[in-house]
Amino acid sequence: GSTIGIIGGGQLGRMLAIAAAQLGYRSHIYAPEASGPAAEVCAVWTQGDYENADALRRFAEACDVVTYEFENLPVAALAQTEGVRAFHPSVEALRIAQDRALEKGFAGRHDIPTARWSAINTLDELRDAVAGIGTPAILKTRRFGYDGKGQVRLQSPDDVEAAWQAIGGQPAVLEGFVRFDVEYSVIVARGRDGESVAWDVVTNVHDDGILALSTVPAEGQVAAQAAEAVAHSRRLADALDYVGVLAVEWFAGAHGPIFNEMAPRVHNSGHWTIEGATTSQFENHIRAICGLPLGSTALTGRRVAMENLIGAQADRWPAILAERDAHLHLYGKSVRPGRKMGHVTRVTL
Ligand code: ATP
Ligand code: MG
Ligand code: MG
Repeated sequence: GSTIGIIGGGQLGRMLAIAAAQLGYRSHIYAPEASGPAAEVCAVWTQGDYENADALRRFAEACDVVTYEFENLPVAALAQTEGVRAFHPSVEALRIAQDRALEKGFAGRHDIPTARWSAINTLDELRDAVAGIGTPAILKTRRFGYDGKGQVRLQSPDDVEAAWQAIGGQPAVLEGFVRFDVEYSVIVARGRDGESVAWDVVTNVHDDGILALSTVPAEGQVAAQAAEAVAHSRRLADALDYVGVLAVEWFAGAHGPIFNEMAPRVHNSGHWTIEGATTSQFENHIRAICGLPLGSTALTGRRVAMENLIGAQADRWPAILAERDAHLHLYGKSVRPGRKMGHVTRVTL
């Protein structure tokens, strides 16, 4: 069978490699660590720096198609890899999605509503932006943020200096604070032929900036604006000429969906699709990058809930395993506070 190259060896790589194996593909992981959650399930693991363009090119040469499960990759090094083998999603899609200013600008140019925002390079620009956008507001680093890290809230203009200090004076965006009751995500898979599918819109609950719970189907306000958010998300995927799974996060605004951010990869809020949908996000990502037809995204039950297992939770595993409708996934990571150790999906028939 063919070999799929996956850059990044975390739990997303692990679940991608499992889906690839089911379709008869071998996975070759490239990651800077000596090992990781994907190590047990891949055929080959190459340890190498993400900045090492030569090593990345040799890795691509050893594969038939290359993808990534981690978005904070240096696009300059990847640009060389892209020409060696089929590379999906494209480096251009990654370049936009990994930068909050580029992604918000891109959304705005495609008539997708965002919070008011401004790109910030200096303390003076931050002062001006706060004067224009007002408070409360959120200052986020343009790159490298995840799980709410690299961002700080400003309650008043007095917070400007402390906020700039808190993010280390890095290139950033200032966003007006959006008042919403609920947030949700749209997971889209788009094939090489431009056909796309979307799963049920996922309602997400965060705890301390980290995704805690994802549920489908949508209810209330989310259900009312789900079709519009899916249409926006597919338009984004089309505009990026995207191949693979794209996750788009939304706030339920009073007048419709408000774009928050996108991830150019399989996404934590799509883990429920492994048991909760006919075809999982991981399988459809593999199908998409390999040029195969995409599978059905239909729900397998009336209701599906995915709970993240964060930090030390091992004492709960026996009780979860004893539940009739629970599917426990563990990533084989050592425990750290705030670390995603696994998840459990409950499908209600
Ligand atoms: P992720 O782990 O999803 O990648 P992240 O670190 O990239 O998270 P965001 O998704 O930008 O960060 O923000 C984290 C959370 O903070 C959001 O899910 C939302 O609850 C809240 N938030 C972010 N931006 C805004 C905003 N402009 N107005 C109100 N709340 C916001
Ligand atoms: Mg993010
Ligand atoms: Mg987010």
